Amino acid sequence: MPALDYPPPLQRMIAQVKALPGLGPRSAERLVLWLLQSGGRIEPLVDALENLHHRVHACPECGFYIEQGQDCSLCHSPKRDACLICVVEQAADVLRLERSGAFTGLYHVLGGKLSPLDNVTPEDLRIQPLLDRLRAAAVQEVILAMGSDVEGEATASYLSDLLRAEGVAVSRLAQGMPAGGGLDHVDELTLYQALHGRRRL
Ligand SMILES: [Zn+2]
Repeated sequence: MPALDYPPPLQRMIAQVKALPGLGPRSAERLVLWLLQSGGRIEPLVDALENLHHRVHACPECGFYIEQGQDCSLCHSPKRDACLICVVEQAADVLRLERSGAFTGLYHVLGGKLSPLDNVTPEDLRIQPLLDRLRAAAVQEVILAMGSDVEGEATASYLSDLLRAEGVAVSRLAQGMPAGGGLDHVDELTLYQALHGRRRL
């Protein structure tokens, strides 16, 4: 007799949730069972999921998320210093830096970091759009705000060579950044200090 398991639709749902980042098999199972038992309460969740791809997309300039039909409040703000671009790995890093209050320039989201082991090459990142931005606008300095882990350092080093060849000053977050960590492990005050203590590459 085969071992007892959940009905196939339930197994498929658990498999889908288990594939999401940060969820192990037990949490995936618990979450799906809760959804199943919660009846009509999941409708707002289903609505939000359905709307996500229709209503939210990445700004073609900086790569941060904007609502469909709206202008990017960062790229279109006259208060931001367009001479300065801060390059980050992920859109969430933009919010972290904004909350630190230390940066008033523009951002550029790479969408990841170079990682040969995971087959992430320069073509997989938003590097060409960054070079296009530099050529189209009067950017004077690019701050590389990748994490200080091996991939973050490799990405910063690769970008540094490319960007200096474009004739812009390049600097890197320094002071206070934990060795081997991404921006998600850093509190706002440390980020503020790291931005002000950036070193020229
Ligand atoms: Zn933007």
